[in-house]
Amino acid sequence: MSTSAIRANRASDQQFIRQTLAERPLFCIFPPAIKAGFLNKRVEASLYYIRSGQWLLLLMFAVIAAVAWTWFRELFAADNFLLLKLVEIPLGVSILFIIYGHRIPGVREHFHRVMFPVATFQITLIHLHIFLASDSDYYLYAIFNQMISMLLVALGLRFTTKVLALIYALSGLGGLALGALMHLPIDLLAFGYYYVLYGIVVIALAGIAERQERFGFLQELMVSHQSKELADLNRQLDRIAHHDALTGIPNRRSFDIASEREWEIALREQRALSLLLLDVDFFKRYNDTYGHESGDQCLKTVAHAIRDTMLRPADLAARYGGEEFVVLMPDTDEAGAAEVAERILQAVDACGIPHASSSAAPHVTVSIGITTLLPVPGQPLKDAIRQADEALYQAKENGRRQFRVFRQAPREEALQD
Ligand code: GH3
Ligand code: MG
Ligand code: MG
Repeated sequence: MSTSAIRANRASDQQFIRQTLAERPLFCIFPPAIKAGFLNKRVEASLYYIRSGQWLLLLMFAVIAAVAWTWFRELFAADNFLLLKLVEIPLGVSILFIIYGHRIPGVREHFHRVMFPVATFQITLIHLHIFLASDSDYYLYAIFNQMISMLLVALGLRFTTKVLALIYALSGLGGLALGALMHLPIDLLAFGYYYVLYGIVVIALAGIAERQERFGFLQELMVSHQSKELADLNRQLDRIAHHDALTGIPNRRSFDIASEREWEIALREQRALSLLLLDVDFFKRYNDTYGHESGDQCLKTVAHAIRDTMLRPADLAARYGGEEFVVLMPDTDEAGAAEVAERILQAVDACGIPHASSSAAPHVTVSIGITTLLPVPGQPLKDAIRQADEALYQAKENGRRQFRVFRQAPREEALQD
């Protein structure tokens, strides 16, 4: 159930992506799986900003603190260090937490959940900063800091616009409540103008940016899905092009490519190359006796038996055509090739496919022609195939269900000498 559910889910996600990108609605609301990916990407982005901007952030806070201490020291002292204790120090601590908090185990996994109260706390403190400002120069300075903090929270922590709006609302209300509790002078007009209006502008900009980001994310998902599909398709095509449809083992084309390559290597490195040509015995009779479909099934079984006999990764067993197979064995001498041929004869015997009309055995058998050669420059690969075919013919002549090794005819040898 679960796999098909996941598959259906993926298909519906793909449908959602296509439709959303085509329609580009004003509010782009994601289904759960896509939303999780999007939020995760935002966490990654935030961590990246924090890591790359940490020194700048620290420097900025140091400058803000230094300016406050240098130009407004009497304000800090006058209120019995209230500003320092209530605002600057907690602000510094919360900034340090934003920079280094993600290193604490568990924080990264719940990054936005942890940063939500921290950001709310920070902007609430900034309000107190303003309410505690009795000097108009200091007031301007505090408002500037408020704007910077709001921007940094909006840009750096990558909350969604909805959450950002909630943070601004909560910290605004929290600041007002705390200010009232502490009997601080609250200028509601300035609060509305600087905080609410500015907050709305930031939220609107964040919303516009997030909408674009959401479409961008969908585009990315679509591209990655399409390239994955394309890669799958390429793999399938590659498989079809290089494998035999009936038996599933490599086809003639694969053999041609591999044999050309191995021939070149054997020639360059002067290593022996062995070739086996296999043919099912009395296969025409098999088809006539059991039907073509059983014939196909028989070819499959024989093909797999041959393939499973290969022990070295460099060896290649392929369907050469019809009921003929070929095995290419690089860096293999005649004794090694004969050993493999013997193993194949036994493996096909062991399949025990009944063949009542065979004169070689009561079951399906194969005959094998072997050739082993050290390629010489100018010699075509076809030579090897012709030699293996000749040896196969001898195996057939000799009663089938056996292998024969190609030997150069003495007359030919004499001519060569
Ligand atoms: P020999 O022992 O001399 O090899 O006899 P044979 O009957 O196997 O030789 P022949 O080449 O005369 O017959 C091969 C037969 O294999 C003929 C053809 O119909 C059959 N054949 C070739 N390809 C396929 C196939 O893909 N499926 C089936 N079922 N039969 C096939
Ligand atoms: Mg044949
Ligand atoms: Mg045959």
